[in-house]
Amino acid sequence: MSLIFAAKLYNMTNRTFTMIKPDATEKGNTGGILQMINKAGFRIVAMKMTHLSKEKAGEFYAVHKERPFYGELVEFMSRGPITAAILEKENAVEDFRKLIGATNPANAEEGTIRKAYATSIGENAVHGSDSNENAAIEGDFFFSKLEQF
Ligand code: GDP
Repeated sequence: MSLIFAAKLYNMTNRTFTMIKPDATEKGNTGGILQMINKAGFRIVAMKMTHLSKEKAGEFYAVHKERPFYGELVEFMSRGPITAAILEKENAVEDFRKLIGATNPANAEEGTIRKAYATSIGENAVHGSDSNENAAIEGDFFFSKLEQF
């Protein structure tokens, strides 16, 4: 069986998208988070530091528009620089969700990025795509095809 066929059959992909959020940037945790990502076996295939405008942050999180925390989320995500990256590894989306841990750091397991670096349900250090489809959409939001290696 070819690897591509196997990946489709088991709904695995080899890429996901992440952001190191403004809280982690402010605290100087970018390097520590990237080290955890590399140690877990993810390869960085695109990366940039950037600062989202309110408009762009709102667009990225448009799916949460009706949620009560949407305004707070947009304020937070546009507060300062972030690092956006595309990561490659077998079963990337699912494995990266495990590595980042629960949305609320109070529920995050030992050894996860959010357990180590998040401070609250809102300021939780990192983003990780929740599906293969969103991983592709979110990666393309930040990176042109020429910037994805
Ligand atoms: P994720 O997939 O684990 O990032 O969680 P969600 O997709 O549910 O939420 C997206 C992001 O919105 C989270 O990572 C948080 O930064 C933020 N968020 C989620 N729930 C809350 C909340 O109750 N309050 C605030 N202020 N932010 C939240």
